[in-house]
Amino acid sequence: MIPHSRPTITREDSEAVARIVATGFIAQGDVVANFERAVASFVGVRGGVAVNTGTSALHLSLLALKVQKGDEIILPSYLCVAPLNAINYVGAVPVLADVDPATGNISPESVRRLLSSRTRAIIVPHMMGQPAAMEALLKLGVPLLEDCAQAIGAQYQGKMVGSMGRLSMCSFYATKVLACGEGGMVLSDDPQLLEMVRDLRDYDEKCEYRVRYNYKMTDMQAALGLSQLQRLPAFIAARQRIAAAYDAGFRDLPLVLPVSQTEKTHIYFRYVLRLGEDVQRFISAMQKEGVICRRAIYKPLHALLAASVCEQAEKLYGESVSIPIYPSLSDRELELVVHGVRKVLQK
Ligand SMILES: *Cc1c(COP(=O)(O)O)cnc(C)c1O
Repeated sequence: MIPHSRPTITREDSEAVARIVATGFIAQGDVVANFERAVASFVGVRGGVAVNTGTSALHLSLLALKVQKGDEIILPSYLCVAPLNAINYVGAVPVLADVDPATGNISPESVRRLLSSRTRAIIVPHMMGQPAAMEALLKLGVPLLEDCAQAIGAQYQGKMVGSMGRLSMCSFYATKVLACGEGGMVLSDDPQLLEMVRDLRDYDEKCEYRVRYNYKMTDMQAALGLSQLQRLPAFIAARQRIAAAYDAGFRDLPLVLPVSQTEKTHIYFRYVLRLGEDVQRFISAMQKEGVICRRAIYKPLHALLAASVCEQAEKLYGESVSIPIYPSLSDRELELVVHGVRKVLQK
C-alpha cells in the first residue's frame, strides 16, 4: 500500500536526535533557540517562538493580538478544525468566509462582506502549499495571522509566506512539510508580539502571576527540525518534481489539476485532483489499486458548525481528492499512482 503521507527521515535526522538524547538535556534549551533563529531567518522575519504544536502557535498568536471574548475572527470554511479550536480557546467568534474555487484559498471578496466593527483579525491559511491572495487581503486593513502549516517555503511575489502578516505560524506535525513529530512556531517582525508569545508559552519563574501555558518544544524535536530544515529546499524541489510528473501524467484526463499562478510558488504539500463528481468512489477504487487517497480536508467548517453553507467550499470539498505526494515517494510508487489514477478514471 502506498500511504497518503509519509515523513522523510534520514540517518542524519536520527543521529541529530540521538546526540541530544545522549546529552541528557532533553527539554527546551539551546537547540530550540537555534531552531527559532533558523526558521525565522529562512522565512525572513525578525524572530520566532517555538511551541509544542501548530494549534498552540495559533492560540498564543490570538492572545498576543489581545483578542478577547466576543471579538470576531474571520477564517475560511475550507480548513481543518485547529484554527477554529484556537478561536474558541480565547472565546472569540469564528466568522466563516468562502474560498476561491481555483485554489481553495480564502476569498478576499468574501472576507470583505464579513468585516464588521468587531473584526479583530483574519486567519489566512495558505492551503495545500499555495499562497493565498495576500495583496488583496493586506488591503483590507485588518491584522492578518498567516497559517503556514501547509506552506513553509512557498513564495508570493517573491516574498516568503509567513513574512507578510502581523504574525504567522507553522506546524511541524509528522506529516507536514517539515516534521518534528509535533511542533509549531509563531513568527513575526514585531518584537513586542514575539515577547508576549515567549512569555505565555512557559509558566515557571515569572515575577507576576497571570495565566500562562506549558506549550514548550523540546530540544529533541528541535534537533529533528533543524536537521530537516537543511533539506527543506530539496524537499520542496522533490514535491514540485512529483507534481510536474503528475501534471504530465494526467493532462488528458477529464479532471481539473492544481493551478499554478505566476506570482506564486506552489510547494505541493498536497496534490489535489478535482473530479467532476463526489470523490468517494475514486477513493475506494484507488485503495484497490494499492494507493491511499483522501479528501483534501476532513469536512468544511460550516458543516461541522451547522452554519450557513459556504458554497464554493462545499463544492470543492465534495469534488476534491488528495493523492500521495512527499519527497520519500519513490519513482516506482509515483508510476503506480499515475497508473492507478488513469485506470480508475478511464473506467
Ligand atoms: C496541521 C494544521 C494546523 C494545526 O497544526 P498542529 O500542529 O496539528 O496543531 C493548523 N492549520 C493548518 C492549515 C494545518 O494544516
